[in-house]
Amino acid sequence: MASDTGREFTTVFGRGLIGELRNFVHRPYLVVTMDDLWPRFEAEFDDGLAGPHLVRTLDLAELEAEVERLPPCASVIGLGGGQAVDVAKFVAWKRRLPLFQVPTAMTVNAPFGHRAGLRTNGKVRYLGWAVPEAVYVDLDVIQSAPAALNRSGVGDIMCYHTAHADWKLADARGRSEPQWPYDETLVAAARERLDSVLGCLDDIRNVTERGIRTLMLAHRWGGATFHDSGWNPRHIEGVEHFFFYNLERLTGRHFIHGQPVGLGIYLGSLLQDNGATEMLAALQRAGVDIRPEAMGVAWDDAAEAMRTLARYVRDAGLWYSVADVTPVTEAFLDAARAGLYGAYGDWRAAS
Ligand SMILES: [Zn+2]
Repeated sequence: MASDTGREFTTVFGRGLIGELRNFVHRPYLVVTMDDLWPRFEAEFDDGLAGPHLVRTLDLAELEAEVERLPPCASVIGLGGGQAVDVAKFVAWKRRLPLFQVPTAMTVNAPFGHRAGLRTNGKVRYLGWAVPEAVYVDLDVIQSAPAALNRSGVGDIMCYHTAHADWKLADARGRSEPQWPYDETLVAAARERLDSVLGCLDDIRNVTERGIRTLMLAHRWGGATFHDSGWNPRHIEGVEHFFFYNLERLTGRHFIHGQPVGLGIYLGSLLQDNGATEMLAALQRAGVDIRPEAMGVAWDDAAEAMRTLARYVRDAGLWYSVADVTPVTEAFLDAARAGLYGAYGDWRAAS
């Protein structure tokens, strides 16, 4: 049975780490970052800087053209959230350069994964290959990021809960994909990381040093295991991400990943009859607001993403899940809505 026998990326926790980069990265170095971050960190770099590359697009064709125009450089530094580290991977891959990753918030597991989540014709595609020399997690930098961004990072770990129920359901019905037979070892390994995060929600909410280490080490495992399990997503992703993809497709909105994924964890676990109340309480305790209004959409958008989910997952060729088994009725949606606003309160009353 295939289990996880790969290696997670070298990860270093500390302080003052950005200012050290210029002393050891290969020169000249390119810094791939975001508009809003560059003014804050520019002074940390010296005359070895080949230039900053400010990320404007994740579109593959546009990125191919941009990489052609970038100045010569001997190494790449990714500095930012998911987008900056993904584009840094892409540049390092295209030019075969050493890569150093510096995540500035805990939003996603992108700094710890091999492939970059890019877009082609509006669809997510994970491609490329980059193993960083190291990932530097600067505690002061993480703690200075907006708290809501950091807290939303629990979404990419709590999704293991719904993913495992989907895999078990597919297995019980003989519908597991032939390349991904149910693997208790992988589920147990993921469960270990999920439990570590669930046991640390107050620290993650308060972005303490313990909270940062726990969530980032869980992300480190989650980023590597897709590759290390033979490109198997079964133990780390299921109906909750499918809901998010469908909501993104229907609304055309750009989200903070953990919010729609978190709402998908609640709705998915409710459809699975799989501890939805506990998941809702955990998301709330971590300080992640999963009400649709908190992410710029309406309840009706979320409801429509659930109504159309079964058709969407077949059109998109996604793996077998509760979306293929349990119909989304209006009674289900009424109960889901009551549970969500019962826990978080009415949006208008709260704002
Ligand atoms: Zn995710």
